[in-house]
Amino acid sequence: MRTYLFYVLIGLALGCVMDMSANTETPAMDKDGWESFERRVRDGSINRREGEAAVSAWADRLRVRYPEDEFERGIFFPLKGYSFKDCGGRNGEGYQPKGYFFLDGNRHKGHPAQDIFIFDRNKDLLDDNTGRPVDVIAMADGVVLSTYGSWTAKGIEGLRGGNYIWIYHPQFRAFSCYAHLRDIVVHTGQRVKGGEKIATLGRSGERAFLSSSPTHLHFVILKSEGMSPINPYPILKEGLWEGDTDN
Ligand SMILES: [Zn+2]
Repeated sequence: MRTYLFYVLIGLALGCVMDMSANTETPAMDKDGWESFERRVRDGSINRREGEAAVSAWADRLRVRYPEDEFERGIFFPLKGYSFKDCGGRNGEGYQPKGYFFLDGNRHKGHPAQDIFIFDRNKDLLDDNTGRPVDVIAMADGVVLSTYGSWTAKGIEGLRGGNYIWIYHPQFRAFSCYAHLRDIVVHTGQRVKGGEKIATLGRSGERAFLSSSPTHLHFVILKSEGMSPINPYPILKEGLWEGDTDN
């Protein structure tokens, strides 16, 4: 009986310590904790089983925490001054979801994204037509759940997305991700409106910064349930979520 009690006490003490460390590891801005989770996935420091449980727990948690009736449903093109015609390929063939798993993080296969190219022949990040940086826009109303703006060419080796933002969209139960950014003007935890500026386009990322790469936004949509990708092309082309009809 005494031994039993001893282990119960040890267990309780350990539980407290683990709770405390979990709290101190959470970045100050990351009140939802999703950003920490995303970083662990990105850097491959979470195993598949733990990751799968976390993905499903987050889908439920976010649905409860951000009721969809607090957000509007409009769709906006993520690059100001551009349109679906600027997506790679003729009909969005750049979207290659085969072999992609969110939990593979930075080492994922496939290309579950649309690359959207701007006019920037000399790669100075200024639009050749306007002479100004290009604004990156929130695809829809949502909550910024992760931002990373510390990328440098000599920084984290192999980080493909460079500087990036993840936004959760309660109306669609989906995430959008914007990569290869320059300056990020929103912060984690912030609610944004669809069409609101969130960043300027950059050339950050392992390959995006090479001179051989045209300046572009890497734009991803994932369903929060299972974090499986959706082709952004028809959504951006129609300005409508899949299944929605234009009345
Ligand atoms: Zn891409």
